[in-house]
Amino acid sequence: MIFEALSVIPDVFEPYLDASIMGRARRAGVFDFVAHDLRNWTHDRHRTVDDAPFGGGQGMLMKPAPVFEAVDELSSTGERPHVVFFSPCGRPYDQRCAERLTQERRVLLVCGRYEGMDERVYSLADDVFSLGDYVLTGGELAALAVIDSVVRLLPGALGDDMSAVDESFSADAGLLEYAQYTRPATYRGMAVPDVLLSGDHARVASWRRRSSLERTARWRPDLLERAPLTEEERELVRSLTPEGGER
Ligand code: SAH
Repeated sequence: MIFEALSVIPDVFEPYLDASIMGRARRAGVFDFVAHDLRNWTHDRHRTVDDAPFGGGQGMLMKPAPVFEAVDELSSTGERPHVVFFSPCGRPYDQRCAERLTQERRVLLVCGRYEGMDERVYSLADDVFSLGDYVLTGGELAALAVIDSVVRLLPGALGDDMSAVDESFSADAGLLEYAQYTRPATYRGMAVPDVLLSGDHARVASWRRRSSLERTARWRPDLLERAPLTEEERELVRSLTPEGGER
């Protein structure tokens, strides 16, 4: 799978994608990455990518022409990319979106800057994603978050292929992950739950399921509506989420 980014600061991606798990996965050929400088598709001496908004108002907008020309040219070479834009006005990006993107072979991530982009560029988009209800100065962090979340789902990216399976939001559970502990068994007077030291796999599994349910009820009750739960679990969850949704 290859990710490409279109950005006015194309150098910011490398350090992150070269380090740790991403770096290893990339060197192992799990994914590849290329950043393109949007200014390569400008035609003036100052390599201008922005202009003032029609109708007035603060700040500058990204002009449509460099974006259209870049996406056209990149799309005309090789396989047509799946084109992703970023905006606080986009669809909330979640684990489902990441799972869906693992099916693509080539993904082009178009990163906005300034006050955003001329609305017409979104006609090029296969997806417009928002990372959350806050405003970043640019789409580069959003692009890195998408790459990271997709790559760790690809076979061979994580050492142990199972480790992406029972995590928070995973499709089969739809819950937050259970609480986890490592050594020492007691730290600053806080003891790890006995059951986790018991070696009894069935009891550990049932403790973890309950932990997932409790944490989801506490922090993300909104996830419970869609999660596949047994009647007994629904009952438990109801007892954990008092009317009014205390958090
Ligand atoms: N004026 C716009 C924000 C522009 S921020 C508005 O109020 O909606 C500039 C760029 O940063 C955007 O084009 C987008 O690429 C990126 N960006 C900012 N916040 C983001 C978010 N929450 N999710 C995804 N991308 C974001």
